[in-house]
Amino acid sequence: MIRIARWFIFCLLSSSVLAASPEGVVAVSQPAAAAAGARILAQGGNAIDAAAAVQFALNVVEPQSSGIGGGGFMLVHLAKTGETFFVDSRERAPARARADMFAPDGLPMSFPLASTSGLAVGVPGTLLGVDTALHRWGTMKLAATLAPAIKLAEHGFRVNRFLADDIANDDGRTQIQPETAATFRPGGVPLAEGDWLVQPDLAKTLKLIAAKGPDAFYRGPIARAIVKAQQRGRSELGDAGKGRMTLADLAQYRVAIRRPLIGHYRGWTLAGMPPPSSGGLTLFEILKLLERFPLGDVAQGYGFGSPKTLHVMAEAMRLAFADRAVWIGDDDAAQVPQHALLNPEYLAARTALIKTDRRMDTPQAGALTPWGTPAAMRLKPARTRKESLHTTHFAIVDRWGNMVSYTTTIEYTWGSGITVPGYGFLLNNELTDFNFLPSADPAEGNPGANDVAPFKRPRSSMAPLLLLKDGKPVAAYGSPGGATIINSVLNVTLNLIDHGMTMQQAIDAPRLSVTNATGKMNCEGGQTFMQPAFSLVAQDALRTLGHTGLGEAGTDGCRETIGSVQAVVVDPATGTHGGAADPRREGTVIRVRH
Ligand code: GLU
Repeated sequence: MIRIARWFIFCLLSSSVLAASPEGVVAVSQPAAAAAGARILAQGGNAIDAAAAVQFALNVVEPQSSGIGGGGFMLVHLAKTGETFFVDSRERAPARARADMFAPDGLPMSFPLASTSGLAVGVPGTLLGVDTALHRWGTMKLAATLAPAIKLAEHGFRVNRFLADDIANDDGRTQIQPETAATFRPGGVPLAEGDWLVQPDLAKTLKLIAAKGPDAFYRGPIARAIVKAQQRGRSELGDAGKGRMTLADLAQYRVAIRRPLIGHYRGWTLAGMPPPSSGGLTLFEILKLLERFPLGDVAQGYGFGSPKTLHVMAEAMRLAFADRAVWIGDDDAAQVPQHALLNPEYLAARTALIKTDRRMDTPQAGALTPWGTPAAMRLKPARTRKESLHTTHFAIVDRWGNMVSYTTTIEYTWGSGITVPGYGFLLNNELTDFNFLPSADPAEGNPGANDVAPFKRPRSSMAPLLLLKDGKPVAAYGSPGGATIINSVLNVTLNLIDHGMTMQQAIDAPRLSVTNATGKMNCEGGQTFMQPAFSLVAQDALRTLGHTGLGEAGTDGCRETIGSVQAVVVDPATGTHGGAADPRREGTVIRVRH
């Protein structure tokens, strides 16, 4: 029996939900895509089969966030062996990519122009990633997992509030290219909530892939159409804005299967995403910097939302993001000092910079051997931009206990805004995650870890995570939100471990995020479900300490929306499975009884 409960959830480590045998559970940001995954579980498929169906369905019903024109990281935990893997289908730079391509005259291109140009399009990995996961661990054929998406594209679906909002507030991205405008603004009128959207070109593409497999995409007519589409630039950039991808780049795309980065926090174990994402490393660094503070202890002035807790969280974020800016990139192409960043001596020196009674000056990245300089490093100014709720995350556990936690993206909302003509899917703008200005500087000790290079993967923030207690998996979760992803996952982790919340409470609670060393804060509150909110008293205390980004004293500066966390949980005592989803979008949990 399939029971749909809209962001109504069964909590982490709660014994209130008991079932005769473990159920399958999917937690997705969009109900029709959640239903696609649930159907596969009901048909006897496992979590990997269901994940494939959810991804393809999301391409149809949440096309602004992810799809076959993009990439992502799929965490797969196998119940039988206890192993965890990451399927890395991150987009790669084409062979002709160069370090200075986003700054041809020595000045960085504007983000809005570069990110809506073919130059920003990385070689897409999602389809090959899903197909690889199915071959290794799935039980169903690719075509079977595509079936729900084909139906949704062919027969249509109801546009929800979030898709309608993203069309209405698109920064122009659905208006630049005619094919994208024709789909989402037919006759020049933006689709509204409740409108019915049919996507025949996309249905045709998915059917071709179902019939011929990934080769239909990476070679042949679709590949030719992709190459041609990414040759579109923006007139303001001239030829510099045109994409550099060739048919050979598509034919040579490779998925990587990676082992998790293992972290520890207060007796819990975390399996996180290694480079090319900063998701695991930066999250683990922040957690380690925070471990010496009794965050859960209200008697000592900590506890959820207290000024002391929020202050040390922000300071730890600033230190870790300073390191991230210099040291983390694709370590298949540049050496990332993974061990040095998590070395206990280094972390002890770093956390000693956090003072509870004052805000530190802008921290530098740590000087790390063997790559660092003995002197303090000079940070190149980081490119900052407003992070919106692009990308998507979903989580699945099947009746056998296999788990998937999958963050998947076309980068910015609407990606490059380029729909491949005749094939109905959007191309990513993932290459704008690289440094626009090359930062490699041997004299300074800067390795240029995230500078553009041929075949390299841009540094990501995506952080699909598995949380384990006593060696047993208890939760799998993650979030979209650009660099704020790391902090959304951090907030949820602290809420679970330090503040004793259930998974649903941990997701519903307001979040704090700082994504660079200078430390401008983003925080959220105000919405009725965010309880307890960050109080005005706490916000004023943060202002008094010197934190910025919260606006005028005495006012509520927590006005952001940060992340969209989906999770599945396993109660280690009972073996019960549950899920939790984020009310910030149309988060949906479906339980499948067998
Ligand atoms: N390009 C982003 C990253 O990999 C995608 C995630 C997001 O923006 O939410 O970090």
